[in-house]
Order: sequence, then structure tokens, then C-alpha cells
Amino acid sequence: MTRHGGFEPVFCTIVPPHVLDRLAQAGDPVLAGPARRTLQRDAYERTQRRLTTVVGARAVAPLAAEPGTPHRTVHDAGHGTGLPGRAVRAEGDEPGQDATVNRAYAGLGATFELLLSAYGRDSIDGAGMPLVATVHYDRDYNNAFWNGEQMVFGDGDGEIFLDFTLPIDVIGHELAHGVTQHTANLDYFGQSGALNESVSDVFGALIKQYSLGQTAAEADWLIGAGLLAPRVTGTALRSMKEPGTAYDDDVLGKDPQPATMDDYVRTGRDNGGVHINSGIPNHAFYLAATTLGGHAWERAGQIWYDVLTGGELRQDALFTDFATLTVKAARARFGQGEELLAVTKAWERVGVRTL
Ligand SMILES: [Zn+2]
Repeated sequence: MTRHGGFEPVFCTIVPPHVLDRLAQAGDPVLAGPARRTLQRDAYERTQRRLTTVVGARAVAPLAAEPGTPHRTVHDAGHGTGLPGRAVRAEGDEPGQDATVNRAYAGLGATFELLLSAYGRDSIDGAGMPLVATVHYDRDYNNAFWNGEQMVFGDGDGEIFLDFTLPIDVIGHELAHGVTQHTANLDYFGQSGALNESVSDVFGALIKQYSLGQTAAEADWLIGAGLLAPRVTGTALRSMKEPGTAYDDDVLGKDPQPATMDDYVRTGRDNGGVHINSGIPNHAFYLAATTLGGHAWERAGQIWYDVLTGGELRQDALFTDFATLTVKAARARFGQGEELLAVTKAWERVGVRTL
């Protein structure tokens, strides 16, 4: 197990490897086959990511976009694995016949809009970075990922997973990895890795809530709702409201997320449990946001964003470091008000100390 260096962007797949590992061992080849194939593709793409990081090849050429306007391109891989594939919808193009293309385009747009209108951030890098997505990647591909440069979506195998463009929070989750990469750049291992994952869930959820105009009380606080096929016993990939309850299925197993430090999972798998222990900071955000009420992106989201982009968050931050900075950010932005109390109490309830 190696620790990520400072220069290696996160290669995040929305479905973590431990879930696919379990599926790959299923007795039914209809279920195991796509999972095995997906794991192989993920391993290959992860390697490619390392190579291109070193060589600097395959970078998306920056285009001269008007500041404060999105610059989206959606590509179709045509069930192959070449990236980015054929460009099928560029910025300003009318919607076409392919609902998957249209959903990817809309999801990129919603993410751009939340970042700009709520936080004054011009795209992922704060400097108008073009947003690039590829859909229909491979066959029966059970994942979606951010490779450091662009988003990639599979169609799912239809047995366990459906089209990965269906949940807008999955699109937001992956793009938020890009924001983290360009700001705090949290190491993708152990607690800092779980914070990296949690930040992506937080902003993924906020993008969904923003696009639906929901308050914290109205939101479902699920990540990946609508992604699981009907045969699966479950509602989503993760729950920020009740970590550990998103699914409990014969084939998929049970959602392993803890909600508090009492149930913190020590594991070498999944980069030290980055998609598992993220349940703890996820739940802290949920508690802070629902205590405050109203639109979660306005206060709780602003505090989390301030920590992510404020320059004080170390790459190897622990939960307690992040929590302490949220308390500091709450005070800096909102003074000694209810925000400070809500954030402090939220961390207390999940068992993370603030200093
Ligand atoms: Zn992720």
C-alpha cells in the first residue's frame, strides 16, 4: 500500500473497488462478468492516469471561454474505451436524441452553476476550465470516474447498476474531485482520503439540492439514488443522513459506512477505507446543514467550501484537523452565531474532536 505523492491526482470511481470485488465473486456469471471487466478497466485507467501525469500527455487543450460561462463538451465512446471519444454535444448545442448525452451536459452545467453562483468559482480550477465528459464508455461498464482531466460514465450492466448519468450527484461528486485536486489536494489515503471522498459527496449532494431547489429538510441526502437496478435491495450507494443504510443486498452486501468514530473502520482496502469512513464527515455535514435549515449550500456548504479552498487544510489532514477548520471558518464568516454552534455540535455528535 503506497501513499499518494503530492502530484498524483485522484482517480476516483464512484463505485468503490470493494463493492465490485464482491460482485466479481458472485456465483451468477451474469453478475460477476461485468464486475470483473469493470475492475480490469478501472485498473487500466488508473495506470494510464499515472502515466499521463508523468508524461503530461492527453491534456485537454484549454479553450478561450468567456469568463463566468461554462464550456462543456460531451463525447460518445460508442461502447469502446478510447477517450475522449467522438464529440456529440458542444456548449450551446440544442439537446439531441440521446438522453444520456443530455443528462451529462445538464449535470456539468448544474455543477458549473453552483460553483459560480454560490461560491464565485469559475469552473473546477477557478479559471474557466473546460468541462469534458464521455458517455457510453465500454460495455456493461459498472462505474463512472474522474481521471484528473475529464469525467467518464458507463451505462451499467442493467442487472446491478443502471446508467451512471442518472444521478446528478454522481456527476457532481466526480467534478468535486477536480475542485479538491485544484485546491486542498487531499491525499487519497486514510482519513485525508475519506475527507476527499466526503467533500465530493457533500458537493455532489449540494449540486442535486441546488438544481432541484431543495432545502436541507427536503433533500434525501443520498448519493447515487436511482443508480441501483430494481433487483437490488437498496436505495443508493451511500446515505449522508444514515450512513450504513443505503443498501443491504444478497449480491451487493451491506453498506459498510459508519456514522460516528465509535464505528470507524480500520482497513487496508479501498485506500484505507476512503469510501467507508467518509460516512463520518458526511454525517457531520448532514447534521450541521439540517440543524441550520434552509438551503444547505448557503451556510454549511459555504463553510465547507471555505475550508477546502482557504489554504490552511493540509494534504494529510485528519478528521479533527478538518473539523477544527470548519469551526474556525464558521466563526470567520458568520461570527458567534448559530452557524458556529451547529458546526461544533455536528462534529461532537459524530465523535470528532475540534480544537
Ligand atoms: Zn470519489
